[in-house]
This record gives sequence, structure tokens and C-alpha cells, in this order.
Amino acid sequence: MKFVDSISRIILRCVAFFVLEPRLKSGQWMIPASVLDRLRPELDDLFSMHDKAKQMFSELEICVTCSGVCCMGGYSRFTVFDHVVHLLTGLQKPPEWTYRLYPFRSYALNRFDEGLCPYLDLGKGCTLSYNNRPSVCVYWVCGKMQKVLEPAHEKMLIELRRRIDTFHWKVARALLLGGMKRKSRSKGA
Ligand code: SF4
Ligand code: SF4
Repeated sequence: MKFVDSISRIILRCVAFFVLEPRLKSGQWMIPASVLDRLRPELDDLFSMHDKAKQMFSELEICVTCSGVCCMGGYSRFTVFDHVVHLLTGLQKPPEWTYRLYPFRSYALNRFDEGLCPYLDLGKGCTLSYNNRPSVCVYWVCGKMQKVLEPAHEKMLIELRRRIDTFHWKVARALLLGGMKRKSRSKGA
């Protein structure tokens, strides 16, 4: 099952990187409100898993004593799927830097400086809610955390990633099957 999940994720990342994200970055495509409305009910399941993840990570009490090593390095962690969540939640100040995450070696290839993620408030943690964080920041587990995870935590993380993937697939299908429209050109352009 893990192998199937891995293949599914690679396909998903490639669809995002090679098809959906270039359209979004070009500024020539948009996602109509009717498509967003169809996707909105899917947030309930995703957000209920985010709540469980938040509870689990806070009970583990590891991140509070850490300087946020995983938030270091200025690079985009956001994908088109996170962008859709931002549209659906009406995030006031969505990230400007990019919505394009390389399917492989994303940390190295997306990195643009040695600084910190702009959403990190040093000593306090992430300033974005769980629901508006990049997906990778919701399920990511560092080596230090990995050592203290019990079987129940591992099970929860597998379920979390599957439910995130399920949401991403629903978005990918909706956008691929006519859910992105070319913006009409203004007259005289
Ligand atoms: S996931 Fe690991 S590196 Fe990131 S803040 Fe938590 S303990 Fe620190
Ligand atoms: S979005 Fe939040 S959790 Fe993710 S790297 Fe930035 S500060 Fe860390």
C-alpha cells in the first residue's frame, strides 16, 4: 500500500508542477467561483484531520522546545493545492513568492536564500493556521520527532497523508477537467 501511495504522490506532484502550477504562475488562467464552490465541502474532512494533527503534535511537545529547524531556508513550500485552500478560506495575505514546488528535491531547487520562512515568528512558531499552512508543514516529521513516535502516532500520520492526498486528487481532477479557465484578453491587447 505504501508503494501505491508513493506512486500516487509522484503523479500528483507532476500534475501540479508540469500542468497546473505553470498555468497559475502565468497569470493567464483562473479558477472560476463555481469550481471553488464545488470543492468547498471537501474542506471539512481535510480540516478535521488538521485538527487531529495539531492535537497530536501539541501533545508530543517537541516543537515547542525546538528553534524550528524545519522552518529554516527561504524557499516556497506551497503548491497549487495550498493555493486552492487559500482561495477557499479567503486568506487575506496569500504568499506572493510562488506556488510552484519541484516534484523532487524541492528543498534544494526551490530554495532562494539562507534565511527563514517568512511565516516563522522566531520563538513562537508558525504564524499561519494549520489550515493555511503548506501541506508539507502539516505532515512533516523530523528525525528527532520520528524517534519518539509510537505506533498510534505513525498510524495517524499515514491516515493524515492519505486524506491530504485525497483532497489534492479531488482538486487536481477538478482543475484538469475544465476547472481552470483562460482569462479573457482585454480589448485592444
Ligand atoms: S518538526 Fe522537528 S525540526 Fe520542526 S519544529 Fe518540530 S521538532 Fe523542530
Ligand atoms: S509555513 Fe509555517 S510551518 Fe511551514 S516552514 Fe513556514 S513557518 Fe514553518
